[in-house]
Amino acid sequence: MTAPVMLIPLKCVRCGTPVPARPGEVAWRCAQCGQGLLLDEVQGVRPLEIHFAAGVAPGVPRRPFWVADGQAALQRVTYSSFGKQTEAAQQFWSAPRRFFVPAFEGTLDALLDVGAGLLQRPVALQEGDPVEFAPVVLLPRDIAALAEFIVVAIEAERKDKIKQVDFALQLSEAALWIL
Ligand SMILES: [Zn+2]
Repeated sequence: MTAPVMLIPLKCVRCGTPVPARPGEVAWRCAQCGQGLLLDEVQGVRPLEIHFAAGVAPGVPRRPFWVADGQAALQRVTYSSFGKQTEAAQQFWSAPRRFFVPAFEGTLDALLDVGAGLLQRPVALQEGDPVEFAPVVLLPRDIAALAEFIVVAIEAERKDKIKQVDFALQLSEAALWIL
């Protein structure tokens, strides 16, 4: 079944410039005035603060991430009787972690790789100058699901025959950062 196509006029909320939105995109920076814009299924478009990280090497294509602080309460079940990895996991998740949830397009594997890498080696977030960036395709309502996948990806990497991992993830409100 094909969902009905709804055409929402996408215009900058500040200056009225039309947004050249392509299918799948959910956030933009107005080319005219720089206003950040987020697709809202009810309101059409609403303002969004976009943060640009400073200190990223020039020439590297910039990518959008939803950044949120998260706390995962973890319960692991493994096939092996050794508990070292479980201890390591519990210690790792006992502290709040900063989640960098990829908001750009990619295969799930690639996105999880990037997200898991940044969670384990977070980058400093300092405001820099606006730059071009890859299209934003992940809506805020989908952040939690991808963040949970990132936790599972990190746990699956601990080579201890993990059988099952249960966790509850608490995420703060996410901000869009261009890294
Ligand atoms: Zn504008």
